[in-house]
Amino acid sequence: CGIVGVLGNHEAAPLLVEALKRLEYRGYDSAGIATVNKGRLDRRRAVGKLVNLSDLLVHEPLAGKAGIGHTRWATHGAATVTNAHPHRAGPVAVVHNGIIENFRELREELATHGLVQESQTDTETVALLAQMYMSRGMTPVEAARATLGRLHGAFALCFLFDGHDDLMIAARKGSPLAIGHGKGEMFVGSDAIALAPMTDRITYLEEGDWAVITRSGAEIFDAEDRRANRAETRIQIDA
Ligand code: GLU
Repeated sequence: CGIVGVLGNHEAAPLLVEALKRLEYRGYDSAGIATVNKGRLDRRRAVGKLVNLSDLLVHEPLAGKAGIGHTRWATHGAATVTNAHPHRAGPVAVVHNGIIENFRELREELATHGLVQESQTDTETVALLAQMYMSRGMTPVEAARATLGRLHGAFALCFLFDGHDDLMIAARKGSPLAIGHGKGEMFVGSDAIALAPMTDRITYLEEGDWAVITRSGAEIFDAEDRRANRAETRIQIDA
């Protein structure tokens, strides 16, 4: 339901939780964040209000300056910790808004490769697909691109990868997604309101776009994988 992403110069966890709070108005049943710290991908998830996630983070902190976060409004699978985002498969973590319509077919295909889900979500299928492509030797960017090409439905996605603390991949198809530009920092949000405390410089992805994001900027590609120029706008929202 709500997506945030940070490639920052400060601890990501507090920024992610703060940004998720600004998306609470959309409604949600669970929440979670993942970060890459010293190259290592890890995550925390909790059912219910964001305060439950914050409490968990007090007892089990998550360090790292790169991270993604999510507030979930369940469409496939009950509101449980296992079904909460970020979903992880090997080196890949992903947060997702919307619905992957062909997840059952994809799930069957993945099962034939011995890749079995632990959650009931359509989202974990995306993480497993990317994991499968990476296990065949693809880079994160190649794997994300190959994965996106397999997905039907309306969605917004943001990927984070183990061993990569300066990379996020974002994609928009039927569900809005905004990229925020900072000074040597980059952000992703399902709406600009979430990013208001961090930046007012926003690029909205257009339908079918996907973006390779590092701290030095975003390379945006259209649905045909051609480089796309998308205007940066300044938004006025009270931080
Ligand atoms: N379909 C996904 C799920 O049920 C994402 C739901 C959402 O947009 O929050 O986990």
